[in-house]
Amino acid sequence: MAKKDYYEILGISKDASEAEIKKAYRKAAMKYHPDKFTNANEDEKKNAEAKFKELNDAYQVLSDSQKRAQYDRFGHAAFEQGGAGGAGGFGGFGGFGDFEDLGDIFSSFFGGSGSGFGDQRGRRRTVQPGADLRYSVEITLEEASKGVEKHIKYEKNGKCHTCSGTGAEPGSGMQTCSKCNGQGRVKQTQRTMLGNFETVVECDQCHGKGEVPKKKCSNCGGTGIEKEVVEKTVKIPAGIDDGQRLRLSGMGEASPSGGPNGDLYIYIKVKQHSIFERIDDDLVCEIPISYAHATLGGDLEIPTIEGKIKMKIPAGTQNGKVFRLKEKGMPNTRGYGRGDQLVKIVIEIPTNLNDSQKELLKSFDKSLKDKNYNMKKTFFDKIKNLFV
Ligand code: ZN
Repeated sequence: MAKKDYYEILGISKDASEAEIKKAYRKAAMKYHPDKFTNANEDEKKNAEAKFKELNDAYQVLSDSQKRAQYDRFGHAAFEQGGAGGAGGFGGFGGFGDFEDLGDIFSSFFGGSGSGFGDQRGRRRTVQPGADLRYSVEITLEEASKGVEKHIKYEKNGKCHTCSGTGAEPGSGMQTCSKCNGQGRVKQTQRTMLGNFETVVECDQCHGKGEVPKKKCSNCGGTGIEKEVVEKTVKIPAGIDDGQRLRLSGMGEASPSGGPNGDLYIYIKVKQHSIFERIDDDLVCEIPISYAHATLGGDLEIPTIEGKIKMKIPAGTQNGKVFRLKEKGMPNTRGYGRGDQLVKIVIEIPTNLNDSQKELLKSFDKSLKDKNYNMKKTFFDKIKNLFV
């Protein structure tokens, strides 16, 4: 039978906060606590025990951010060996995350010996995935626009090539771990203000595998791990934005307990561009033009991320006017077409005029009438009305 979803067991959503998880757990744990069923019939007891165990398994994983992340990624497989299913999981008896807070309902339960049902449970092993790795790649806006392939090189803990990660000298085989008797976990006594609690932790001799090599691998000394340099070409999709990341599944470190590899996260940094600023999928740039050019209108050469194009600006283009060039922005990574390019016109006032230029400008200015200045005229009309 498939294992129930941990979020479902606690009746919470996938994005529940830590507080919500704890609250849901407390509420459900009170309901199915074995102490409440001491006078119940066998069926009811069994049912409550199963429910209680399910709750604890779910809580142990979801209350621990690291385990929760693994669970979100791999589901139950994150904590099982070879898909054995059923009894697997982190649900070690007594391994609650938060004794003091939950002490009020659990103190009696933990205090008595053998009142629980932890001992009846079968062999439990944990399989942890290897660690995730992070790699940063810097690209230009042009590269982000077209998509690009980048060569990456990094060192990681890989599987030992001599023993294929088993830790055993080839041909020597495995034997039951003496420290945990093959359980993969060992009991640990924890002192708290509510008394001593037994918790179950991963066996550090076999890393939860329950078995150790008869003869340790001569290459890796029995760890099953050796340093490995990975070189790879990574495809960075068109449209990727600064701060986004790519996940390369299984490209992280090898697991010390025979679990799946971790993942490699490629973090993308897009270098600042000299003229473009990206806003969502649009590209914004400012283009300085002369006063005469703006007044007379005409052709204007515009840089786009894919090269220069020409556009016409109308006569009388005002300072700050924004033109929208359809689909000249960045491609959308999810395939929703392209953004636009927004071109903001900045009229540059000339400086350092010589005398003859000044004279020309003065006589030109004198020639202008009210009708040449729409904004100015309206403004002075308003002022006249203000001070009558
Ligand atoms: Zn080895």
